[in-house]
Parts: sequence; structure tokens; C-alpha cells
Amino acid sequence: MHTNESEVLTQTQRDRLAQADASDEPVWIVTKDEIGSDAIRPIGDGPLTWEFEIENARTFAWAASDAFMWDACRATITDENGMERDVRCQSFFPVEAKVWGNDHEDGGSTRYIKHSIEYYSEWLSPYPYPVMSNINGPEGGMEYPGIIFCGARTNPEGLFGVTDHEIGHIWFPMIVNSDERRFMWQDEGFNTFINIYSKAAWYGKRPDIKRHMEQTTEICSAIHQQPIVTAPDRAWPRWVGRLMYRKTGYGLYLLREFILGRERFDDAFAQYIEWWSFKHPQPSDFFRTIEDAAGTDLSWFWRGWFLEPTSLDLAVVKVAQEEGDTAIVVLDSLGDMVMPVPMQIIYTDGTAESRTLPVEIWHTSTRWNAGIQTGGRKIDSVTIDPDEMLPDTNRKNNRWER
Ligand SMILES: [Zn+2]
Repeated sequence: MHTNESEVLTQTQRDRLAQADASDEPVWIVTKDEIGSDAIRPIGDGPLTWEFEIENARTFAWAASDAFMWDACRATITDENGMERDVRCQSFFPVEAKVWGNDHEDGGSTRYIKHSIEYYSEWLSPYPYPVMSNINGPEGGMEYPGIIFCGARTNPEGLFGVTDHEIGHIWFPMIVNSDERRFMWQDEGFNTFINIYSKAAWYGKRPDIKRHMEQTTEICSAIHQQPIVTAPDRAWPRWVGRLMYRKTGYGLYLLREFILGRERFDDAFAQYIEWWSFKHPQPSDFFRTIEDAAGTDLSWFWRGWFLEPTSLDLAVVKVAQEEGDTAIVVLDSLGDMVMPVPMQIIYTDGTAESRTLPVEIWHTSTRWNAGIQTGGRKIDSVTIDPDEMLPDTNRKNNRWER
């Protein structure tokens, strides 16, 4: 946050900033026509000293250019005490960066900032700084406390994606200070996970997890796998994005949507953020905190998804002993990753039912005989993982038909 605006900004700029600080819509602070003119410099020709202040920052960055246009508005968040607090959202970019401007039809950078700050503050924890700046610079995308950098982009969805991702890093690792040099997945993957929902909210669509799912399955199918906990400088470069970002992000998505359910996951995730804000959690701290808060043993999931290179192959073998009111569906877990088994049963009379068998069925054996109360109906087909949500490396054995 500037602490000497009166010494480095013109009266017009300060008036416009005051307007922006009370506005939900972006306001121009430096317009296209003002770039390069004397009007944007407050006093004299000598050097100006800009002063900034920030608390709870692990690092810092700054940017300066006489080619920057500048627009700003406020985000409004609820702080730890339940009080509303405004955050200044602002963007700096050259005239050529059309998709950045607030006159672009997709919204522009400053509206993206406002969305991300408000969305993550509401879901995770209050944004801790008074300002967020997005700078159009030479980097593809990079995060610092209160300031992010995104490269020039011509695709608005691409700019949204990078802006939202770099802002997500405020929570992981700026607030929850994990060690990105050793455990890259603890910030990149957690961030990828929250980005799935933020993007869906901005565009008003369902979460898009296709790429995460495909890349996870690709990893799990590879002969030479590396686990997520591999140090980033020891991971194969072309796998870094797949492992640290997508497989980790998808793992948390499955934990939320399938394994724990939203309510339990969100409570546990909030607990992790609360306990480890401005502290330094190791992977085991994350695992323990989630288990503790969710009240369940997830060692099978941590082992299979994060700690070891494993693959999942669930199979339905056959329907056996179909007599009277019951049938036995024989299931196999052929890989070394285990999962609860979502299953859809369709009967010959056209009725259908869905059920999920708990992961505990794999505690003692790789084969499970599932007793099904059919009420005298005949089973026409059984499909496991019917929504293709799990990274099953062989889907050909996921269906049995009469
Ligand atoms: Zn990142």
C-alpha cells in the first residue's frame, strides 16, 4: 500500500482513486490519452520516491513503467471479526493489451481481481492485504503478496485463468506458508483446486475438470510414474504440471466431491487454513489436519494419491448367485490404488439404482462380493464409476451386462 500518495500522484489521480475506492466498477486512474503526457507527473523533473508498506509478507515485488494505463475499483470482503473491509483492486498495462481493459466485453483484469479476491475470501479466509495489483509484464504469471504479474494475452479466458491462479497463490503459499521448493504440490495443486471453482463461478458454468482427470489417468497409466511428493527439481519437467498442479488439484476435487462430501471437506479445509495461516505446514501436517477435522482415516488416499506411484483399476467380474431377493456382484481391485466403488445397477424391468461401496471393502482382499437386495428383480447391467470420475486405467472391465 502506498504511504505517500500525495507526494507521487497528481491531485486528479488521487481524486480518481478515491472514486475507485468507493466503486464496484473500474475507474480509470491513468487513461490511454494521458500516457506519456506531462499531466501524469505531479511535480518537477527530479526523482520521486515511492513508499510502500505491507505486513505478513514473505517476499515483495514492484513494477514501474511510463507506458502503463491504470484502472481500479474496490472488492468488499468480510474480515475475521465479521466486519466489511474494502480492498483496492488495480491493473497496470500498456495500450496494446486490449483484453486487460475494463472496456473489454469479458470484463478486464480489474474485474477479474475483484471476483477472485471476493470469491476466495468468502470460501477460504479473508484476503489479508489492503491492495491487489495485476501487472502486465514479461512473466507468464507470477505471484507475490499483494501484487501479481501476468504476461500479455490476447485470449480473455487465458487472462482470467492466469490472474485467478496468481491471486489464488495469496492463500497458498502466502497465507498458508508451505515450502514450494520441496513440496510444490502444496501450493500449485491446492491453488489449481480452488481455481476450478472460481472459474466456474465467474463464467457461470459447471466446474471443468476434464483436463485434470485426463492427465491424472495418464500419470496413473504410465509405467514409470513419479509420486506427487517428488521434489520439483527431481520431477521430469514435462510431468511437473501434471503432478504438482493437475493430479493434486484433482485429488482435492475428488476428496471434496466424492470421498468426504462438500460439508465435511470444507470444514476440514477451513481448519487446515486456520491452523496453518502464516505458519509452515509440511505434507504430514496437511494429512493429519484433514483427518483430524474430518474424523476419518484417509491413509489409503494419501498413500495411493500423493505418496506413492500407484494406479487404479476397478473391475466388475460377474453377477453371481442371483436367487430370490438377493444377488452377488463380484468386484476386483486390480491396481495398487484403492477407492470407494460408485456403482450403477440397471434391472431388466427398467428400474435403476446407484450406490457407493466404501473403501473399507479393500482392507482384507482385492476381491469383494457385494450383496445386493434386488427385491426379486433381475440385474440387466452393472457399471462401476458410471460418471467416469475416477482415474481408472482400464475402463473396459467396468461394466457387466446380462
Ligand atoms: Zn502457480
